[in-house]
Amino acid sequence: MEQDTITAISTPLGEGAIAIVRLSGDHAITIANKIFQGQDLVEVSSHTIHYGKIIDPIKEEIIEEVMISVMRAPKTFTKEDVVEINCHGGIASVNRLLELVLANGARLAEPGEFTKRAFLNGRIDLSQAEAVMDLIRAKTDKAMNVALKQLDGKLSTLVNQLRQKLIETVAHVEVNIDYPEYDDVEEMSNHMLREKTEEVYREVEQLLSMAKQGKILREGIATAIIGRPNVGKSSLLNALVQETKAIVTDIPGTTRDVIEEYVNIRGIPLRLVDTAGIRETEDIVEKIGVERSRQALKQADLILLVLNNGEELTEEDRKLFEAIKDLEYIVIVNKTDLPTKLDRQEVEQLAGKQKVITTALIEDKGIDALEAAISDTFFEGELDSGDLSYVSNVRHIQLLQQTLKALDDAKDAIDANMPIDLVQIDVTRAWELLGEIVGDTVQDSLIDQLFSQFCLGK
Ligand code: GDP
Ligand code: ZN
Repeated sequence: MEQDTITAISTPLGEGAIAIVRLSGDHAITIANKIFQGQDLVEVSSHTIHYGKIIDPIKEEIIEEVMISVMRAPKTFTKEDVVEINCHGGIASVNRLLELVLANGARLAEPGEFTKRAFLNGRIDLSQAEAVMDLIRAKTDKAMNVALKQLDGKLSTLVNQLRQKLIETVAHVEVNIDYPEYDDVEEMSNHMLREKTEEVYREVEQLLSMAKQGKILREGIATAIIGRPNVGKSSLLNALVQETKAIVTDIPGTTRDVIEEYVNIRGIPLRLVDTAGIRETEDIVEKIGVERSRQALKQADLILLVLNNGEELTEEDRKLFEAIKDLEYIVIVNKTDLPTKLDRQEVEQLAGKQKVITTALIEDKGIDALEAAISDTFFEGELDSGDLSYVSNVRHIQLLQQTLKALDDAKDAIDANMPIDLVQIDVTRAWELLGEIVGDTVQDSLIDQLFSQFCLGK
């Protein structure tokens, strides 16, 4: 079957030094050849790169100097013929190049269509395709590591092992039923089923418990900085932002825009939320009242409440404590360079089991302790990319939860001495649910929807 040839700009639009227009499909090479002045691309060997000029064949006009990579199927990202045209990327010239490619027989790719083809052509499985998307969006190196592991197939391997265990058990039980060599086939099968189900159950549970951390790495900790005027909220924000380094990657096709509202704390992305202006707010309680500010603040995973060490605690401070009392927060006693007027004991008491950190932001003091406190709050100790979660994707988390439920049903059925074929329905369901993670048992409509979330050109 002939695959139409798709194309898109596969680097972020903007000021980048180079831009890449990518083509994939049966005519990728011939289309590129029509507009290329240089070597005959149809004749060159696969996986080679060529310097030349792009010409408009109709106007016979030179558009750009480029480097063209020619990669023939099947050893390419999509398993189709792929051509990448590297040019110096002003927006206008890249667009002109893209138009020329379109005019010569390619079709504009839908968002995610390159990755979708890689999936449909069996180059990667669904969890790996999703990892490509995560990689593009990763905010910190650690989040990127999670995505890379997933792309590497680590999650797929784990999930496939679990599925294998389940299917073997089902097969085994069926054999036992069909060829009863023992008197107590039923009992033995039940016992084995119970054991295997329990085993897989525990492993899925483990994957899930790591998933929360993965999700935080992927989406960031929604963080709000609150406090009275002049306590040092802006200073804190600046100190946090200074810690942030832009992330660049040299993995092809994953150039990412740096997203400014994220700060990187020891590899954990903090997403500074600004719902109803609570990111850095002085009079949130004043303005909307304790109850409503509590609602607004609920949007945050973490609240940083800043107090002034050089002043006594005020009614306003106490109201802020009241507004966040059931939420996750860290108290920052700032301006410790000033003589202490704040009643620290009262602060400790109000904070209860939440952490209290002291800082003198004006002297750059205390940021380390704050970072450690944030890291501890969400990860209980140092974050080690060696044992990071492979699961970070909400879809995967939901499927794992449903798998647990199915396995739980199976265990209940076994314990209730239900007929073995009823138990098998639940086990098979668990097998199918795990299959959806890697895309083995997944619906077409879901696939379309998943890939439509991708960026253009990936
Ligand atoms: P915000 O109104 O809560 O955002 O507070 P700012 O960050 O704008 O700080 C208010 C003032 O307090 C500024 O003049 C800061 O330089 C000063 N400030 C911030 N942190 C400290 C500190 O640790 N010690 C002292 N003495 N002054 C600080
Ligand atoms: Zn401020």
